Amino acid sequence: MGLVYLIGAGPGDPGLLTVKAKEVLETADVLIYDYLANIEFLSYCKADCEILYVGKKGGDHTLPQDKINELIVEKAKEGKVIARLKGGDPYVFGRGGEEAEELVEAGIAFEVIPGITAGVAAPAYAGIPVTHRDFTTSVCFITGHEDPTKEKTGHDWEVYAKSTSTLVFYMGVKNLPMIAENLIKNGRDPETPVALVRWGTRCNQQSFVSTLENVAAEAAERKFKAPSIIVVGGVCSLHDKLGWFEKKPLLNKGVVVTRAREQASGLVATLGKLGACVFEFPTISIEPVADYAPVQKEIKALANWDWLIFTSVNGVKHFFAQLDESGLDARAFAGLEIAAIGPATAEALVAKGIKPDFVPEKYIAEGVVAGLLEKGVKGKKVLIPRAKVAREVLPEELRKAGAEVKILPVYETGLSENDPGPVAEALESGKINYLTFTSSSTVENFFNLIEPEHFHKYKDSVKIVCIGPITTKTLEGFGFEPDIQPEDYTIPALVEVLVQEAAE
Ligand code: SAH
Repeated sequence: MGLVYLIGAGPGDPGLLTVKAKEVLETADVLIYDYLANIEFLSYCKADCEILYVGKKGGDHTLPQDKINELIVEKAKEGKVIARLKGGDPYVFGRGGEEAEELVEAGIAFEVIPGITAGVAAPAYAGIPVTHRDFTTSVCFITGHEDPTKEKTGHDWEVYAKSTSTLVFYMGVKNLPMIAENLIKNGRDPETPVALVRWGTRCNQQSFVSTLENVAAEAAERKFKAPSIIVVGGVCSLHDKLGWFEKKPLLNKGVVVTRAREQASGLVATLGKLGACVFEFPTISIEPVADYAPVQKEIKALANWDWLIFTSVNGVKHFFAQLDESGLDARAFAGLEIAAIGPATAEALVAKGIKPDFVPEKYIAEGVVAGLLEKGVKGKKVLIPRAKVAREVLPEELRKAGAEVKILPVYETGLSENDPGPVAEALESGKINYLTFTSSSTVENFFNLIEPEHFHKYKDSVKIVCIGPITTKTLEGFGFEPDIQPEDYTIPALVEVLVQEAAE
């Protein structure tokens, strides 16, 4: 017999999944998940995990509840470990209780991993503590949408209205006029503060505070829809004072990252922390070269060279992988002068125990050339481990200056196999504010996946961010100008100008 874990996925912020839930996802044979659960979690699953979507969106049920129950029981009877992932907490308006009952009846073992419920998390991200000694001594979770097949309502509006509890309504936006009216009719002060939080804890969170008497009209005016949490009570007055999440500089800004997936994680994480809705759209892929024999040969004869120039983090990564492969370590560089084209490459070298002798002030090939010439590279032997195809400025200029230069391909960049669908759709629906390019090849490959003619219609709504002048030149070749370009040609500088721009 299998084992079923009823797991809460939290309210949306991927960081709000519990450690225990993550551990189970990493080992489960089958994952059965719902609409509200963040799909980023799917990446935790092992490669051969069977992933089944049974979600519900509004009234349109992908699978009716009894079929979901049957599916869980059927998979468990195959002896599998099942992760049943539900938005928020599985037992808070998640019908997890019914699923658990079903499992008990079928004699299947189960465990519950509670999740952070939206009724607590969404208010917290909007600056509203659901309890606070100055305002209330209790909190009450209420459904704003009762089972329509029920004969008699389970609500006692008089009790809600007269209680001193903070009232937290789930699934209540459609019925907000009815909720407000019932509370007022049964004696709650029409001036009571009410907050709505939509898409709480996510990059597209929105919230506002009104009063019981005005909230329905204001929600309609602001076009607030599900999923939203409604909070009624004095604690809502803390919204402005304690709000923090909606102050993030890139909140509600859609940013496309076109870097290769292998390189993108740092940028994606930084943008995410600043609140951005990040769309990963890797346009290039980093691949090993077909034959590493030439690299191995050079590694064994490193002493033949005077200078080693690294032009990217990938170059460092692949070169060191080969060094490791040949049984050597950083001592192989003894006596060599080492240059890095920019701070990220330099950092990658430092992580390997190598402090570069030279990092230029301008992080492009031209900057390296000028600096190296000053260092006296004339007549010296220079080895450049880098991508198979790249700009030739660096080797050409060094040769002109009298150096003996050899290019050593240690990796290749290719066109990422990418479905432009999701980003094309996000562009079309106006969810994208910024498009970032971090190299010429990201520009070229982006316009390979999305036609420049097609992109023209977004020219006014989407700002293009280019990391530096070379990338900009490539962009101009496609008929576009960057809206933003940092002074320093680095990722941190790019993020900084983006934040400045967003604040304007
Ligand atoms: N089990 C879930 C609730 C499921 S009911 C939990 O514990 O959170 C679905 C309702 O939850 C939605 O209609 C909405 O009221 C609320 N909800 C879920 N996620 C939300 C979010 N990120 N922001 C605001 N409300 C959310």
